[in-house]
Amino acid sequence: MCGIIGYVGKQKAKPILMEGLKRLEYRGYDSAGLAVLDKAKVKSVRAVGMVVELEKKIAKLDLKGQVGVAHTRWATHGKPSVANSHPHTDCKNKIAVVHNGIIENYLELKKRLSRRGHKFKSETDTEVIVHLIEEERRKVNDLFEAVQRVLPKLVGAYGIAVISEADPDMIVIAKKGSPLLFGVGDDEYIVSSDAAAIISYTKQVVYLNDGEVAKITPKGYQVVEIGQGEVEKESVKISWTQESAQKSGFKHYMLKEIHEQPQAIESAIRGRVDKFIKEGSQTPILGGLAPTKEIRDRLAKIKRIIIVSCGTSYYSGLVGEYMIEEYAGIPVEVETASEFRYRRPVIDENTAILAISQSGETADTLEAIREGKLKGALSLGVVNVVGSTIARETDAGVYNHAGPEIGVASTKAFTSQISILTLITLSLGRQRQMSFVMGKRIAEELKRIPGLVKKTLKKEAEIKKIAKKYGKYDNWLYLGRKYNFPIAMEGALKLKEISYAHAEGYAAGEMKHGPIAMIDSNFPSLFIIPSDSVYEKVVSGVEEIKARGGKVLAIATEGNKEIAKLADDVIYIPKTLEMLTPLLSVVPLQLLAYHIGVSRGYDVDKPRNLAKSVTVE
Ligand code: GLU
Repeated sequence: MCGIIGYVGKQKAKPILMEGLKRLEYRGYDSAGLAVLDKAKVKSVRAVGMVVELEKKIAKLDLKGQVGVAHTRWATHGKPSVANSHPHTDCKNKIAVVHNGIIENYLELKKRLSRRGHKFKSETDTEVIVHLIEEERRKVNDLFEAVQRVLPKLVGAYGIAVISEADPDMIVIAKKGSPLLFGVGDDEYIVSSDAAAIISYTKQVVYLNDGEVAKITPKGYQVVEIGQGEVEKESVKISWTQESAQKSGFKHYMLKEIHEQPQAIESAIRGRVDKFIKEGSQTPILGGLAPTKEIRDRLAKIKRIIIVSCGTSYYSGLVGEYMIEEYAGIPVEVETASEFRYRRPVIDENTAILAISQSGETADTLEAIREGKLKGALSLGVVNVVGSTIARETDAGVYNHAGPEIGVASTKAFTSQISILTLITLSLGRQRQMSFVMGKRIAEELKRIPGLVKKTLKKEAEIKKIAKKYGKYDNWLYLGRKYNFPIAMEGALKLKEISYAHAEGYAAGEMKHGPIAMIDSNFPSLFIIPSDSVYEKVVSGVEEIKARGGKVLAIATEGNKEIAKLADDVIYIPKTLEMLTPLLSVVPLQLLAYHIGVSRGYDVDKPRNLAKSVTVE
């Protein structure tokens, strides 16, 4: 949600900010804007819509300033308009702020500021921040001090970057609840919401923690924790390559990321699975999951796991539930993170809370983890972005190493998460009842998965044809059972996100309890029906839909001829262990959603109303 970029150094800020905005655009595309300190004056340009609109507006402007901030917006308060676009400025247009997050007490602050004579130009929650800074700046020596005085007044979540005419050569940034970091260059610094946006400039980054404020000048940076004083911050090296954050010849990031799944799964299991096959003992195969003896002992004692996550990660969590219960024998619940923290979850020290989040910044998931920790649970994370907030705040965890995921609709992160959950199942299972023979069989099959995904991806041309044939339908039922029930929901979500067709993911066994009433010849059903332990049950469902004149598209296991006679169309996937079928069955569903979306003429990398990584509640 929303991308922030900032620059201070010896180069012109404008091109660097524009480049950064393009890379961050997937985080929000309601409007974009920038402000540069040009000849000691704040010059700001803003435009509704995508970054290209801003580019058109700004093309002829020769801004020479070497300090600036920029923003791409996913509106929470106030419609997408120029007036509501960031940067927002104070009454005298001398201070500019960009913000990611929500200021929950903005109405109250706005009332007070208005009474004191401040003139508001937008409907956003953000604008109060800059007026508060305006007031405090008058009382102190510099912008850094002023921002520190303002932050305690703000309730809610923020990542902010501020510049001011009175403080040339300086950006002040602060973080609470929304991601923010800065890259360290040679006498220059780039602030960003996301490391992937700045890797072409530098790979050394400093992540801010919640409650921290930084002053950045070309000469260096200083970080203070509000109420605690100065903190030493070291930079960390990002291993992602520039290549990995580009489209590399694919039409969309989403398509590139679908095709990157064999490598993403490979990276998730590399070393880890071989270690398991070789040693097979109770040695934890995931170093990050048991970094210390204390955590390892706690892990061995846990009696229950609660997985908290949102969206696609929630569905990978459901697959994890089935795996861990079946093979490690630990009761698992999967909770939508946004629900978890507002009810009264019963947790004790024998409970582990496992957060799954691609970005590691998902606001709801982060809060759920904090709630769990408060109640004494062991907190674990499966996170893709190294150094992200969830990664830092959990007791232990595993990185996906899937590389940057930029397509708004998650694909490779999903299969990578399921691969990691398989490894977690092996780890926990071996600490308990799982035999080495069973574990080895799973591990060996997991090693084959990247190759099998590659094989499935070869079906793309066939899937494209099917997408053409079915693209006209506006309503779908996606059905699956056991391990493929979560995949039915994930497949339906992909279709909704990308093609705006309505699709419901349902447990195949539930079909008769309601949804079948909707079926007619214009309402197709997609069955995920691999040859597994529940095949016979699901196939009856196919018969029932056909008997009522419904169309059926099936995802089935290679060699199943029976289903070809029943269904209207079949997409075959290779045979694998039942628990690992989700890693294959989801691939045709991603491609189907992609090609239906494209055939309907939509920009699948920027689906309407959505944004990547939901960092506001
Ligand atoms: N709440 C702010 C707004 O609506 C920032 C939203 C964002 O994070 O993009 O403008």
